[in-house]
Order: sequence, then structure tokens, then C-alpha cells
Amino acid sequence: MRRILIVGAGQAGLHLALGLLRNGYDVTVVSNRTPEDLRAGRPMSGQAMFGTALGLERDLGLDHWADECPPIEGIQFAVPGPDGGKAIGWAARLDRPARSVDQRLKMPVWLAEVERLGGKVVVHDATAADLEAYAAQYDLVMVAAGKGPIASLFERDAARSPYEAPQRALGLTYVNGLSPRPEHSAVCFNLIPGVGEYFVFPALTVSGPCEIMVFEGVPGGPMDCWADVRTPAEHLARSRWILETFLPWEAERCAGIELTDERATLTGRFAPTVRRPVAVLPSGAPVLGVADVVVLNDPITGQGSNNAAKCAASYLGAILERGERPFDAAWMERAFEDYWATARHVTTWTNALLAPPPPHVLELLGAAGELPEVASRFVNGFDDPSDYAEWFLDPDKARAYLARAGA
Ligand SMILES: Cc1cc2nc3c(=O)[nH]c(=O)nc-3n(C[C@H](O)[C@H](O)[C@H](O)COP(=O)(O)OP(=O)(O)OC[C@H]3O[C@@H](n4cnc5c(N)ncnc54)[C@H](O)[C@@H]3O)c2cc1C
Repeated sequence: MRRILIVGAGQAGLHLALGLLRNGYDVTVVSNRTPEDLRAGRPMSGQAMFGTALGLERDLGLDHWADECPPIEGIQFAVPGPDGGKAIGWAARLDRPARSVDQRLKMPVWLAEVERLGGKVVVHDATAADLEAYAAQYDLVMVAAGKGPIASLFERDAARSPYEAPQRALGLTYVNGLSPRPEHSAVCFNLIPGVGEYFVFPALTVSGPCEIMVFEGVPGGPMDCWADVRTPAEHLARSRWILETFLPWEAERCAGIELTDERATLTGRFAPTVRRPVAVLPSGAPVLGVADVVVLNDPITGQGSNNAAKCAASYLGAILERGERPFDAAWMERAFEDYWATARHVTTWTNALLAPPPPHVLELLGAAGELPEVASRFVNGFDDPSDYAEWFLDPDKARAYLARAGA
């Protein structure tokens, strides 16, 4: 039986571990947090996942919350105008609903499932020296440690990483009591030019259904405003202030909001970074990076958990296909490039949205208000971002598409 060790009990590490266990592999997961730590800690994400990624979880029987978790049925897009109203405002339905299950709820259950299926869970904050010891004992070592410092063992790929610094100051607020959107539920995505973005959507947290607010402030701008916030109550008040100042229609929905729990807030920032997929340890042993360790995008497009599921599924296929042959560095490079064939579209599109919108993007987003087909295509691209290369990211293709769509 081939022995595989995974560092990191997050979206990618546990998806991969459970997929391998179901296929008869001997699996060890090293987690720097116990199930109790995970459940009682802060949320680390908004974790909205779209149809394809949810399908990958369903294929492995990992979608334990499909009935309980409120569906996200569409995406609403708005840009404020100078008069306090909306300069752009429209919505479209997703072909398949998205869902967000708080990782504080999901990961402890998945960790227990690893043990139930015969996997081993080691609670330990793995170091580079530990990786040497693991590599000597296991056929394959993978590092799925998210934004953990151990990711720095993997060299930054400058050619695939256009930004060297964080592009947004992030804020996360989990609340109850937010007025639901009329018609269908949605990710309500608001773009405030030069200031940042705000999106909010229904989710399932440890205490039941909630709404998750995500704030993306341009560094140095008025939404980069969390440094002096000390308490959960101040964090909630600052969240309201942003909406009252820039997005009155979103502030209106928040009259009755309260935090879901005292830990339901997060702030931070990081530079979007693509890394080389293989770290070679001093002994010469290669280890393979997984998901955020190797492709870390800003959350502006809500793709990291989706990417983590897609990376786990892609690596699982590569491992099964490898059979009894060695998991050498060349195999690792190929496994990553197969995943990158999908992930590169997410990275290109996400990095493009971090820059000020060029004229053709404003034309497209404006036209989507008149042309339901354009709105639907934009919204459903969140599930498969490779489509944006065909119309959204290129000015000539965008204008040709708009002409065909009847603008
Ligand atoms: C504000 C914000 C909002 C987001 N919203 C969305 C969204 O709406 N949709 C979406 O798809 N994505 C979203 N994301 C991104 C998404 O959460 C991540 O991309 C995803 O969780 C990555 O999965 P992963 O398995 O690579 O890493 P993680 O989920 O971060 O898991 C890594 C695990 O490894 C552990 N670990 C770290 N170092 C070590 C070590 N040395 N030893 C042992 N264990 C270790 C960590 O504690 C953690 O449990 C958001 C992120 C942020 C910051």
C-alpha cells in the first residue's frame, strides 16, 4: 500500500486525503490545529464554492451540508454613481447554486472522517526539518498548508506573479440579521472605483445560517481602515461605516445585524503569489505544493476554495494514474502543470480585477444591465473562469462579443 503524507488539514489537504483513503492509500495528515482549535477559532475565509467545485466534493461524498446550507442562487453586481444611487446595477442567476460552509464547521468533520476511514491524524506544526523525516518514510509528501510560513520553501515564480505586494486590505464579518435580497439569493458584489469592493452572501456557520461580508480595500484608501479596530464590536461598527459611507443600499440591509459569534471577524492582507510546485529538501528529496501553497490568489473573485477542490481532484487523478511508479520531481512538475492549465485562468482573471477596470470591462459590465445574456455569462464564469479569456479579458474579443450580443 503506498504511503502518502499531507501537511495541512484545510480545504485541499483533507479533500485529497479523503480521496486517497477511498482509493486504498495509507494516508497521514499533519495538522497544526486540533478539531477543537479549528471549530473554536476565527473564520479564515468566505469559502463560497460554485457548482464544479461542489460537484467534486459530492463525487467523494463530502457534501454533508448540501441540505442545511442556504444556496447562493445568483450574483448581483453594482457600482455606485455620484448621486448616491447605482451607476450600474443588475443581477443574474447561476446555472447551479453556490454554497459556503464555514471551514470551522467543515474541517473538524472531515478530519474525523479521515480517522474513520483509517487515516492517521498527527497534530503538529510541521517544519522544514520534519519534511525531511517524512520524505524518508513516505512515498509522497505534499504540503497543503495554505498561507502558512512553510509555503516559503516553495520558490516564488516571478513570471506568473505580477504583484509583489498585497493589492487589497481584507476584512471579513460573519453576521446574523442581514435583510435577505428580494427575488433570489445572491453574492451581492459592489465595486467602488478607486476604493475597493464589498461582497456579501448567505452561508452556513457553526451556529446555523448567516451572511458573510467581505471587504476588499485598496491599500492606503478609505476602506483600508482596520488598523485601529480593537474589539469585535468595533469591527462590526467599522463594517457598517463602510457601507453607510459608500453603499447606502447595502447599509439599508444591515439595520438589524449582529456578529454570529465573538470570533466571527478577520482582517489581513497578502500578496497574490504563484510558486514553483516542487521544493527540493537539502537531502535532495522533492515535496509537492498543493492549492494556496502554490497558487495563492486575492479573494476578490472568491476562487481559493474552488481552486483548492480542483487542485485536490487533479492531483488525486495524477496519483491514481501513477500506480506503483515513483513520485519523482518530474512527475510532480507534470501534476502541477495539469492543474495550472485550469488555475492559470483563475489567476489571470483575478489579477486583472485587482487593477483599475479598463474601458472594455466597464462597457461589458454596463451592457450586462441591458443584455441578460452578458450578465448570465459573466455570473456563470465564476464557476469556470477559463471562459473569461474568450470575451472578458481581451478588448477586441469583448467588443466583438458585445456586437454579436446586440449592444
Ligand atoms: C477574506 C477571505 C475570503 C475568502 N473568500 C473565499 C470565497 O468566498 N471563496 C473561495 O473559494 N475562497 C475564498 N477564500 C480563499 C480560501 O479560503 C482559500 O484559498 C482556501 O481555504 C485554500 O485552501 P488550502 O487547503 O490551500 O489552505 P487552507 O484552507 O488555508 O488550509 C491550510 C491548513 O494547513 C494548516 N497549516 C499551516 N501550516 C501548517 C504546518 N506547518 N503544519 C501543519 N498544518 C499547517 C492551517 O492551519 C490550515 O488548517 C477567501 C480567503 C480570504 C482570506
